[in-house]
Amino acid sequence: MTILQIALDVPLPRLFDYRLTGESQGSFVGRLVKVPFGQGVKFGVVVNEAATSDHPEAKLKSAELIDGLPALPADWLALCQFCARYYHYPLGQVMAFALPPLLRKGKMPRALKLKVGAGETAPSSNTATPDQVAAIEAITGTSGFQTFLLHGVTGSGKTEVYLRAIAAVLERGGQALMLVPEIALTPQLESRVSARFPGAHVVSAHSGVADAARARAFLAARGGHAAIVLGTRLSVFMPMPRLQLIVVDEEHDASFKQQDGLRYSARDVAIFRARQRDIPIVLGSATPSLETFHHATSGRYSLLELPLRAVAAAMPTVTTVDTRKQKLQDGLSAEMISAIGERLGRGEQSLIFLNRRGYAPVLACPACGWISHCRRCAANLVLHLADRRLRCHHCGLEVMIPHACPGCGNLDLQPFGRGTQRLEAALTERFPAARILRIDRDSADSPRKWQTLLATIHAGGADILVGTQMLAKGHDFPKLTLVGVVGADAALFAADFRAPERLFAQLMQVGGRSGRAHLPGAVLIQTEYPDHPLYRALIDHDYAAFANEQLAERQAAGFPPFAFQALLRAEAPEIAQALEFLGTAVAAAEALGTSDIMLYDPVPMRLARLKNRERAQLLVESRSRPALQNFLAGWITQLYALKTPRELRWHLDVDPQEF
Ligand code: ADP
Ligand code: ZN
Ligand code: ZN
Repeated sequence: MTILQIALDVPLPRLFDYRLTGESQGSFVGRLVKVPFGQGVKFGVVVNEAATSDHPEAKLKSAELIDGLPALPADWLALCQFCARYYHYPLGQVMAFALPPLLRKGKMPRALKLKVGAGETAPSSNTATPDQVAAIEAITGTSGFQTFLLHGVTGSGKTEVYLRAIAAVLERGGQALMLVPEIALTPQLESRVSARFPGAHVVSAHSGVADAARARAFLAARGGHAAIVLGTRLSVFMPMPRLQLIVVDEEHDASFKQQDGLRYSARDVAIFRARQRDIPIVLGSATPSLETFHHATSGRYSLLELPLRAVAAAMPTVTTVDTRKQKLQDGLSAEMISAIGERLGRGEQSLIFLNRRGYAPVLACPACGWISHCRRCAANLVLHLADRRLRCHHCGLEVMIPHACPGCGNLDLQPFGRGTQRLEAALTERFPAARILRIDRDSADSPRKWQTLLATIHAGGADILVGTQMLAKGHDFPKLTLVGVVGADAALFAADFRAPERLFAQLMQVGGRSGRAHLPGAVLIQTEYPDHPLYRALIDHDYAAFANEQLAERQAAGFPPFAFQALLRAEAPEIAQALEFLGTAVAAAEALGTSDIMLYDPVPMRLARLKNRERAQLLVESRSRPALQNFLAGWITQLYALKTPRELRWHLDVDPQEF
């Protein structure tokens, strides 16, 4: 009898044995099946066939094959197995995540009409620059696995390089996968790609795509009909039998790392996939992650540089304004106010970047010291004046603004600090005739609103933009000549060692929005630390100087990329329960032996309470990735075997990005 070993969507790191109903001809590995499980049914994927089972065969229940989805290819199964192993996450749950929701439930979408073949490529209207030519030749001249870092500022023509490399792949009859950050996948990019490859079937995959379309995209990729898959992190799991090239644009972007469930890095999984398929992968960025830059300068990756903007345009001039030397007006310096005024006079746009949404980060009572706390989180409630609410940015709790202090009855509650709404209000007061547009997750809370806002900006319908990092990722703003940065200093001294890296990337990106060929751009940074190396590097447009300085610091401190990390996190109603679990985990680790492994003490997380759950974490570190992986593999088996209170949850985060 053939026993099917099936991966099911259950939180256990094991496969389940079933018999096959009816005929048993051929191989069933990779097939989607429906099985009885507990009181109900589940869908799963056949991972192995075996002749015998550890369970009495007579007791095995039978599995039913689902038609319509051809067997998932071997390399797709191997990709899921890699993720299960590397992220120490149950294989069945990896597969359930990698499959579109409809297919995962055994439902097949109706077929769709396909464009046949890869078709013609529309010629680009530009001649590639010598730097672009060199990059394209390096990429298209590579047949086997090779990781390229394409390093070039915004507007240097990276996308043009991707498109030409993709064109070469399509000519050879291959498929290409292009991953982009969450918010960068705009209709503009989709139409740029489709316009370039009018005959090719291009599918988009991101969380906003409806279930049926997502399932169809998966099937089109699986069948090899989709020549190009363009999508956010989850599209790294698209099966593509003729895959010949992977592109990861803005490879440093935090959205490539998933922060729940399967905590994978799509960029890292994409690199594994390129190696597995023995094909080239291109990582593109103006501000590569330090991990990637380190590999590129140490020779592991191949470095391709586009040092100049493609269209003749100078880089914006970057200047700091020392805010220790003056009294700010509503948070704005005299220099900033006059720079905005000049732009208004010339009919140009300004963008003021403040990475904090809401009106003020906290509402406080000067009389008794009461401040607006979230009752479910260890965090403050943020004042949102626009809709007269106090809101928790961590759990979403909303309450009305109290008219008097809940502590002492004082009527004079004061907003403390500054967010985008308050800045918008101040600018409105100062420049009453200007059209001011605020862009943050409150004003652009749906893709549709975000598109509308972008269209307004593009059409020249705003004089001053105020916004968070969302703005940094918008497309070309043709009349934008001033970028003002306020409130950025906090990130210089944040506890998270990656904070400066993120700040530098944000400021480079937002600064890169300003200036065009005929309209030179300026970036003005308000700071109390005008001599900080991060700002100096921005002034000099010197990413490498910043990166090398950070890498030296990381090496001295033994941080990634010079060490490899994993976090074991636990949450429970009481912090003591979470800490106790982590303590037990430490004991289990010590019993296993921890040579080459460094275990830190369990500590409450920085945001120690979230939605009424207390959270703690334990950092595990090693100089060697294999040593860390070996250790984790043994450790997690022990962790699964531990008896834990019902209300305790734990998970492992490999290569954590946030602490
Ligand atoms: P990036 O992806 O690095 O931001 P893009 O590829 O989007 O850069 O190029 C920026 C702008 O320059 C686009 O409008 C693009 O059409 C144009 N461009 C790119 N390469 C060239 C070139 N070789 N000659 C002229 N214009 C170019
Ligand atoms: Zn009070
Ligand atoms: Zn909260």
